[in-house]
Amino acid sequence: MGESGFDVFCPECNMLVEAKVIAEGDGESKITDINPFDISDSPYNIDHFLVCVCRRCGQPFFIRQSWYVVPAEIESPTGEIVLYPTESKLTQEALPKSVKSAYDDASKCFKASMFEPCVLMCRKCLEAICKNLGAEGRDLNKRLVRLSEAGQIDSRLLNWAHEIRLIGNEAAHEVDGKVTKRDARDVLDFTEAIIIYVFSLTKRFESFKVRRAKYSK
Ligand SMILES: [Zn+2]
Repeated sequence: MGESGFDVFCPECNMLVEAKVIAEGDGESKITDINPFDISDSPYNIDHFLVCVCRRCGQPFFIRQSWYVVPAEIESPTGEIVLYPTESKLTQEALPKSVKSAYDDASKCFKASMFEPCVLMCRKCLEAICKNLGAEGRDLNKRLVRLSEAGQIDSRLLNWAHEIRLIGNEAAHEVDGKVTKRDARDVLDFTEAIIIYVFSLTKRFESFKVRRAKYSK
């Protein structure tokens, strides 16, 4: 525990960078097995927190490392998570498999700076959404309109979806078409917003209503 540099994926630089550790400290330790002969020798789990900044662009990070420690013997890392910036706002509880897998692929393409494949996967994500919600029609355009007519997306989301569909079409058919990093980032964010609206928030709102109904009884 305790280091001055930290390798992390920087979403601003869109690459793995070495971040500089500017502050760090331990959380509370939790004893795992009490040593009956000497309690201060008991093995424990502890979280170590790091605040870092990207050396290239200054993006800040907040990281939690988990450790298993046997005093004077072992210090072994058991896990590590970037708490900030969070990778995706998607709560993945209620996502259909095909939607999640298309979205994950789109994110992976973006991280690898493959912007055309990224928007293609976003378009595929829309296809998966339509299929999951039972929207029928001869092409994606028609199926999206069906979704809107059935009240599953509103007119603003329908506009976003059409733009994603169009940029996906261009990426698929135009040899000279160029999808910039900025466009791909926007398309990925719009896709994420549609997924959150259609799946996560819709499900949360249903359970919110059920909970409210219980209180009022
Ligand atoms: Zn950076």
